[in-house]
Amino acid sequence: MYNYVGDKMIIGSHVSFDAKQLLTSAKQAVSYGANTFMFYTGAPQNTIRKDIDKNLTIEAKKYMDANGIDIKNVICHAPYIINLANKEKADSWNFSISFLKNEISRITKMGINYIVVHPGNSLNLDRMEALSNIAIAINHIIDKDTVPMILLETMAGKGTECGINLYELKYMLEHINMKDKVGICLDTCHLNDSGINLAQFDDYLADFDQEIGLDKIKCIHVNDSKNAIGSHKDRHANLGYGTIGFDNLINVLYHPLLKKVPKILETPWVGEYPPYKLEIEMIKNKKFNPNLEKDLEILYRDKQTVK
Ligand code: FE
Ligand code: FE
Ligand code: ZN
Repeated sequence: MYNYVGDKMIIGSHVSFDAKQLLTSAKQAVSYGANTFMFYTGAPQNTIRKDIDKNLTIEAKKYMDANGIDIKNVICHAPYIINLANKEKADSWNFSISFLKNEISRITKMGINYIVVHPGNSLNLDRMEALSNIAIAINHIIDKDTVPMILLETMAGKGTECGINLYELKYMLEHINMKDKVGICLDTCHLNDSGINLAQFDDYLADFDQEIGLDKIKCIHVNDSKNAIGSHKDRHANLGYGTIGFDNLINVLYHPLLKKVPKILETPWVGEYPPYKLEIEMIKNKKFNPNLEKDLEILYRDKQTVK
């Protein structure tokens, strides 16, 4: 197992974004003991979005400064219903492009550096065509003035998802013009479900470095998986409660080559409680908590509001 000397791990989780916008997200992150976070600017399943409130953003940034969160490490996630892969469905392809452009301008106003995007679903299309459609879409979305980076997420291979291996990721990146404005977000559950054995994570990193370059990894979603390697399912499990296992996830989290990369938990809630505070404790202590459900009950049962 690895150890950090000096710098702290950049660790956080998925948080909410409601009427108080980034302020809600930041407060939740701090309540989990996190120093970064990931949010959707509205419901992940839809594309209804409200304007970004300038004053709330200023207030949130002050709060973040005071609580050790560097906005440079904060991640936005695009809703997963957009699909950049299928140009034949012209309306939905064009909508996805304009929505993402809009989303990028909204997060630019907040000073957010990264937006994670699921590359898309090929549906009835040939794989190569779907992958090049994604690249074409991204070429429409970003230009020389774009500030945030688009991070293509590694996918599990559920249905016709694109971005399910290094070659697909590489192919998309190769067809994108502004290469310095696009990176990759690894998702450990998706890697496992796509067929990568995370017990041999160093081998994967070596392959990634050879095909794409490790400097392209800008975010890591740290999730255990409910299913076996290569199952193509995409169902996240709490850390140490799935098939990847706690030690393999700790290896990813503490990997010296990925030290500066923000790590984000997208693990499922346990009953009505978010697991993140206790999972972050497990990570910091490098010690699995076999009583997660009971300890969350103790932690939250007396609190009025849990988000
Ligand atoms: Fe995702
Ligand atoms: Fe993810
Ligand atoms: Zn997932």
